[in-house]
Amino acid sequence: MSTKQKRFFLSEDDIPRYWYNIQADMVNKPMAPLNPQTKEPLKPEDLYPLFAKELCHQELDQENAWIEIPEPVREYYKYWRSTPLVRAYGLEKALGTPAHIYFKNESVSPIGSHKLNSAIPQAYYCKQEGVTNVTTETGAGQWGAALSYAAKLFGLEAAVYQVKISYEQKPYRRSIMQTFGAQVTPSPSMSTRAGKDILTQTPNHQGSLGTAISEAIELARTTPNCKYTLGSVLSHVSLHQTIIGLEAEKQMEMAGEYPDVVIGCFGGGSNFAGISFPFMRHTIKEGRKTRFIAAEPASCPKLTRGKFQYDFADEAGYTPLLPMYTLGHKFAPANIHAGGLRFHGAGVIVSQLLKDGLMEAVDIPQLETFETGCLFAQAEGIIPAPESCHAIAAAVREAKKCIETGEEKIILFNLSGHGLVDMASYDQYLAGNLMNYDLPDEVIAKSLGE
Ligand SMILES: *Cc1c(COP(=O)(O)O)cnc(C)c1O
Repeated sequence: MSTKQKRFFLSEDDIPRYWYNIQADMVNKPMAPLNPQTKEPLKPEDLYPLFAKELCHQELDQENAWIEIPEPVREYYKYWRSTPLVRAYGLEKALGTPAHIYFKNESVSPIGSHKLNSAIPQAYYCKQEGVTNVTTETGAGQWGAALSYAAKLFGLEAAVYQVKISYEQKPYRRSIMQTFGAQVTPSPSMSTRAGKDILTQTPNHQGSLGTAISEAIELARTTPNCKYTLGSVLSHVSLHQTIIGLEAEKQMEMAGEYPDVVIGCFGGGSNFAGISFPFMRHTIKEGRKTRFIAAEPASCPKLTRGKFQYDFADEAGYTPLLPMYTLGHKFAPANIHAGGLRFHGAGVIVSQLLKDGLMEAVDIPQLETFETGCLFAQAEGIIPAPESCHAIAAAVREAKKCIETGEEKIILFNLSGHGLVDMASYDQYLAGNLMNYDLPDEVIAKSLGE
């Protein structure tokens, strides 16, 4: 037996057959999302016009801890899963830490991030229910790329509204979506009433996730057999992402270790949920002592500096009211390069877990994330997505503490994606053009309407 195994894989047969629904095991269940008009708790049926029915039920399921992964979804997971669990010997050496650092490498998926784990089942359930068209919004393009590929796998037409500024500044993710056969429209556009209204008022509008969401929702509502999809925040997305942690649990067993600390970067919470919930179930059910750390940008700190309250998930206020940590749905985050983390709120499950002290959060300034990203690239040979750099930076902080205390802590983080389509951001960092952003308390208070 090799004493220094670098990577751990599962056989195709050992890829999990169920996703883990942590809602069933939580002592304090997430509070109900509310219908904004009636303030009544939402029922699955209320979501039918927007999402595939099965996803509406998964969203609000607080009973069933294990949800079977449909066989056709599992077949497609095999295209790249299991993803490797990697022992980061190179990073450990570069830091001189006694800690054992592991990462789960979700960057090996066909589109380069974890997002495909949920895009495939979402497209599958739509197909099952007779849907022919799917639509969504995308900023930097990670979710749009995942949905475009998944739609193609199941013979669905995909229409993606991409924030106009990203459409122009990030041409390669747009080409990836188009290569997979999706129709990509810069938002705001003249193709919807919402887009027309915005463009009439502000002809040079650069677009935002808010405008793109409004257009995608309108298209889904006005097109027969068309459903809307979301790549983060919602509970069914986190459910699908638990494939990450369920694999990691088996792989850590192969390595003969169990994590003391589990870390994920945090946008809406789906990859953090994916890596942590399967381990957290041992904390909830058996009292295992593991720390779970969500790493968010200092310029969009809903977990560390936001407030737990009912809020909308979108800028326009079209979505149900969600009980969550939020900076206010009108919060305008600074233009950091980790586009996938520029969201004002957190999913309802993680919000409840944070409130109950089952997890913690740290916020990381932009320059530290890129500095750590370069260190990681040089030590492990993988250029991480700007989003993933937040998780690495949090892991490095923990590993550095171990140098002082001499503890051999077992640290596991999720590498949510690679940065090969984000090299323009690295260029800017290397040229010294990036900065940290101050976020005064008054700005947050104002955004929360206080
Ligand atoms: C979208 C994205 C994220 C953030 O989304 P979560 O739902 O919080 O996981 C993180 N990393 C990458 C690479 C992404 O594309």
